[in-house]
Amino acid sequence: MPSLTATFYPHDYSFEIESETELTSFFRLRDRARVIVRRDLDLPMRVQYYFTWGDPSGAYRYLLLKKPGWENPMGLVFRNRGSSSEAASGSICDWCHAYGSSNQIGLLTAMVSAKRTVGMMLCLDLSCGDKIENNPSSSNKDPETRILQVCEKMGRFFDETIRPN
Ligand SMILES: [Zn+2]
Repeated sequence: MPSLTATFYPHDYSFEIESETELTSFFRLRDRARVIVRRDLDLPMRVQYYFTWGDPSGAYRYLLLKKPGWENPMGLVFRNRGSSSEAASGSICDWCHAYGSSNQIGLLTAMVSAKRTVGMMLCLDLSCGDKIENNPSSSNKDPETRILQVCEKMGRFFDETIRPN
């Protein structure tokens, strides 16, 4: 018997991006003016976990994520605030726990509203998934499980930032 609702896969973060217009539409209105679409995207494309890129100046980092159950992916624009002087010796990414110097790990902030931003210490290029894939021996959990854990943390951040109560 056909189901009226889409099958729900609790660990499926994958999504498709059909076009530049669609990609931009995943961002909130307040963020859209800051979104600079990469020119080398081969669209349509399929994303397995999340998709990130930066603007040419390095001031902004973009993140697209589709939590299981969301109808569409959502985008967030992060501002690169860099590192504080105390962190000059190195920091740890809150999402993937990679350790890096101040030009690799730093404060990324996202706007909740015109008056409020939230921030975390993160890999400045949001390469958390790639780092886990390229360094599978750093934990006894398998890489996919660890990447999914990063996606879950990203999802919680989206919930706090995009849909605050
Ligand atoms: Zn990271």
